[in-house]
Amino acid sequence: MTAFDVRILGSGIVSRSLALALARQGLRVALQARPATRSAGPDLRAYALNPASVRLLSELRAWDTLPPDARTAVHDMRVAGDAPGARLEFSAFTQSVPALAWIVDAAALEAVLDTAVGFNAMVSLFDEPPTAPLTVVAEGKASGWRDKLGVRFEQHSYGQRAIAARLVCDRPHNGVAHQWFRSPDILALLPFDRPQPGHSFGLVWSVSPAESERLLALPVAEFEAALNEACGEAAGRLTLGSERAAWPLLLGRASAISGAGWALVGDAAHVVHPLAGQGLNLGLADVAALAEVLAERESWRSPGDADLLRRYARRRVTGTWAMTQATDGLWQLFAGQQPLLRELRNRGLGLVNHIAPVKRWLVGQALDS
Ligand SMILES: Cc1cc2nc3c(=O)[nH]c(=O)nc-3n(C[C@H](O)[C@H](O)[C@H](O)COP(=O)(O)OP(=O)(O)OC[C@H]3O[C@@H](n4cnc5c(N)ncnc54)[C@H](O)[C@@H]3O)c2cc1C
Repeated sequence: MTAFDVRILGSGIVSRSLALALARQGLRVALQARPATRSAGPDLRAYALNPASVRLLSELRAWDTLPPDARTAVHDMRVAGDAPGARLEFSAFTQSVPALAWIVDAAALEAVLDTAVGFNAMVSLFDEPPTAPLTVVAEGKASGWRDKLGVRFEQHSYGQRAIAARLVCDRPHNGVAHQWFRSPDILALLPFDRPQPGHSFGLVWSVSPAESERLLALPVAEFEAALNEACGEAAGRLTLGSERAAWPLLLGRASAISGAGWALVGDAAHVVHPLAGQGLNLGLADVAALAEVLAERESWRSPGDADLLRRYARRRVTGTWAMTQATDGLWQLFAGQQPLLRELRNRGLGLVNHIAPVKRWLVGQALDS
């Protein structure tokens, strides 16, 4: 008899969410503590979360605990290609949904989840969690345990880095997200309320490694000039409201996500390009699926039962595959510089913009992943 039912390795948002979800079922969870020293400052990213993720975080009582300025609803989205008139517009109103997505402060969400696990009697924190019938690996894309389990991680670098920062704009954002596909760069402005309520954006700017280095090294005024030139002031005049940081981008997929006594969740299982803002959404969908499978298990089955965990893998295979393919396909289409691809994507954007059922389908896919 072990003291814990589940041990969870890793200290990101997915690991904390899973610990809370399993604790709600009365499972005893040994969770990895966050390392005492963090190399970087607070995470500058603002994540776009879909309604399924918001539902899960609400059930875990993490959503309502977020400070109001740490979560902003997206009501409209404007996507532009790299030819005049190539654009696609989505609106929550015409799609009859309360919001297309919510933009959430990564550091605030981490803090709220840390507090919740700290107060949860079913969750114990350890630097090295003791063994348990089920080990869940949530260590992110560079997971060491995944390798120890003998799971291959097929990865392909996109040859890009994503620069993230907080911006302040001189016009209200009105809940409008903007995205530019300016082959090979992809630039997104996510409406946000930090640092200035109603007048901020989260920036995600995917560029080549050399361009990323150049943009990060530019003095603030020159960076802002480059940014405003790239956005054409569609969202107003933008100024930096934080430091800048960059992440390497890759496509990654584990060869298996479950086995006898173990399961992989989040970026340890799959990594996608952030152009569709779906990586964490996929990770939180893993959490919901694994928690559901464990809740449904027959009383005689151990949480680490291989057949049980295979159910988890089966539930996740289609959704993850579809989102990975869609994100990679979009990247191939929009980052490619061949004239034919350029023509195709720009015509495609305009076409989709005028076909309401296709737009509805696209929004549905993004909301339900
Ligand atoms: C620029 C950018 C923008 C993004 N935007 C979005 C978005 O808008 N929407 C969205 O859904 N997704 C987005 N993503 C993806 C999202 O960041 C990831 O999918 C998500 O962070 C994965 O969470 P995770 O908990 O699985 O992994 P991680 O966030 O990597 O967390 C795992 C953590 O565990 C820690 N860890 C590993 N080993 C140990 C150990 N032995 N002891 C203690 N800790 C350990 C790691 O250091 C890491 O901090 C974006 C990604 C990037 C790069």
